[in-house]
Amino acid sequence: MYRGIAGSEGIGIGNVVIIEEHQIIIETKTITDTEDEIKKLQSAIEKFVIATNDMADKMDETVGKKDADILRGHIQMLQDPMIEEQISALIVAEKVTAEMAVNQVLEQTAEMFAQIPDELLQQRATDFRDIKLRMIKLLQGVEDVDISQVPADTVLVARDLTPSMTAGINPENIVGILTEAGGKTSHSAILARAMEIPAVLSVPGICSIVKNGDKVVLDGASGEAMVNPDESIIKQFEERLSVYQKEKELLVEYAGKPSVTKDGTKVELVCNIGKPEEAKKAVESDGEGIGLFRTEFLFMDRDNIPTEEEQFEAYKSVAEEMKGKPVIIRTLDIGGDKAIPYLGLEKEENPFLGFRAIRFCLQREDIYKIQLRALVRASAYGKIKIMVPLVTCVDELRKVKEMVADIMNELEHEGISYNKNLEIGVMMETSAACMIADVLAKEASFFSIGTNDLTGYTMAVDRGNAKVAYLYSTYQPAVLRSIKRIIECGKREGIMVGMCGEAAADPKLIPLLLAFGLDEFSVSATSVLKTRKIISSCDVSECQELAEKVMECTTEEEILNILK
Ligand code: PEP
Ligand code: MG
Repeated sequence: MYRGIAGSEGIGIGNVVIIEEHQIIIETKTITDTEDEIKKLQSAIEKFVIATNDMADKMDETVGKKDADILRGHIQMLQDPMIEEQISALIVAEKVTAEMAVNQVLEQTAEMFAQIPDELLQQRATDFRDIKLRMIKLLQGVEDVDISQVPADTVLVARDLTPSMTAGINPENIVGILTEAGGKTSHSAILARAMEIPAVLSVPGICSIVKNGDKVVLDGASGEAMVNPDESIIKQFEERLSVYQKEKELLVEYAGKPSVTKDGTKVELVCNIGKPEEAKKAVESDGEGIGLFRTEFLFMDRDNIPTEEEQFEAYKSVAEEMKGKPVIIRTLDIGGDKAIPYLGLEKEENPFLGFRAIRFCLQREDIYKIQLRALVRASAYGKIKIMVPLVTCVDELRKVKEMVADIMNELEHEGISYNKNLEIGVMMETSAACMIADVLAKEASFFSIGTNDLTGYTMAVDRGNAKVAYLYSTYQPAVLRSIKRIIECGKREGIMVGMCGEAAADPKLIPLLLAFGLDEFSVSATSVLKTRKIISSCDVSECQELAEKVMECTTEEEILNILK
């Protein structure tokens, strides 16, 4: 049994096709005709652009526009004037071949991104290496493997699945993906989930363990895979596959239904999104609103701050798409480890305890005011609510409320419409916010619990440190008590309390959250129906009995034993 990261759920049973990366050999040689070399470079770039656009157009149909745009982004990355100029300058100055210059510049850029302690930005390193390899192949005239031609029941095995590789995937032929690299938020995982292909990622050494044609079974939810298993194991996986497929089919029955427990407690089941276009997916998946729009994505993948008009259009489009359903928009959660190069933030010793989110925004009112104005203006087009991230003291909330009140005054004078009852809430994700939840609840319009950070801050765990990763668990008594306290404090003041961290979709935690009285569950679009199914199977008084037992436990192990 091999174990990796559960990248995309589902059961895969099939035969291995290894996607080998070509052994690229770049000869070191000096050239005399630099002009000719630059022509070669330009011609390879042109071919790259045409091929990438073709692949992206194909992907529009197979996986959707959003993921195809990742690939289109490669064109911009390669044609970034800085990158192109650096490559040409190197050819001229060092008299090296176009391949050598491409290799050096793109590898250096990739390495720079790889060093940034942020998973999203590290992904850029994969992108640049993907672009580098494709460019070198174009310059050397090497043909790429055509994934679209693999036979039915294929399990793709690769070191990592790059966006360009995945372009050719026909989900009907590919039943599973196994890789040696990539995490839950890597492109391979995002694309695999978008195509609903089961995937187990980061399996150490898997490319050398398997041979083409080997039989493989994998479970993308548990992160397990087996190579050439015996008949009884194959039978077991076939049974698991049929149960999984039946469960998936049965989920359709929950579409269009209210999110209500067996005994009639109604909750809101909304979606987390990162880009305005994802609102459509939220509607298609039957989400009842947006519980978290992570606006920092609007600021990434570009080299300047989005203007008030650009942001206004983005927020307005989500509000309109959701047609009066609630849309909670979190203001910029950037800084610290989530670097945005053009903001010029300094590297910090302790980025998670540093200059991030609301701390950054309140010191850079010039940037924050643009966002707040865009939000207040967009509030005229739907049920937008503003959420403030990483709050640790009530002054931060008060300051945001003051800024919003000033903006409303301005808009009043300018004759621009907005929602006068615009709600401003707090993202509850620090232990400080939890301790003053009673105070915050008196001044916030709502709470949303960010368990991803709350777990880290409560347990004092740096997530990048494998030695202490075992402590990063929402099932720890300290974290569960924090969640319970936040919900109680919110309820006491009569405000809505939601949850937008990953825990909101955790089947083991949903009964507890219902017992604590959570009003709103914000999950990814693909988890809506599954979460509704679990909610529908719960009876609140039974959940309360369970919660009583759980809250008496003193260790994570005892808690997990009960929740399992
Ligand atoms: C959280 O911290 O739980 C959360 C939802 O926000 P993010 O993952 O963007 O920090
Ligand atoms: Mg957070």
